[in-house]
Amino acid sequence: MEKSKNIALVAHDNRKKDMLEWVEYNRDNLLNHNIICTGTTGKLIEKFFLDNSNSKTSKNINIKKLKSGPLGGDQQLGAMIVDGLVDLLVFFWDPMQPQPHDVDVKALLRISVLYNLPTACNRSTADFMVSSKLFNEKYDLKHQDLDDYLNRDIDV
Ligand code: PGA
Repeated sequence: MEKSKNIALVAHDNRKKDMLEWVEYNRDNLLNHNIICTGTTGKLIEKFFLDNSNSKTSKNINIKKLKSGPLGGDQQLGAMIVDGLVDLLVFFWDPMQPQPHDVDVKALLRISVLYNLPTACNRSTADFMVSSKLFNEKYDLKHQDLDDYLNRDIDV
């Protein structure tokens, strides 16, 4: 992955406040990277940057908004991960409330593990992730060797 990262930010409704506080806390770290969000999370983060804009932020922040999570946004993001278009995922999922798109949430978390994607599901992990020295460096992401799986014998 390149120095400038594609960072996916997703938060369930009860975690959106957390996400906005996290974005505010890490605002300078996020500049110069590309942000990809599910729809509503993206709308709120975009508003945060607009409301708090200065010449530095308005130039450097680029937010791509997918569909809202329950409307397919999690799946769009999963497909982007499979295509190698995401470098980091910050996903504040709600541990206290069932979600209508629970299967999509599981699928997104599963695919992020399968593709060895740096993934943070709470603020402290996300803070550690963006403050890592690797955050602003080129990084060679290792993928699991799936050749045995792909070349397995199937009796039909
Ligand atoms: P939202 O989706 O950002 O559109 O609210 C979040 C999610 O549930 O994945």
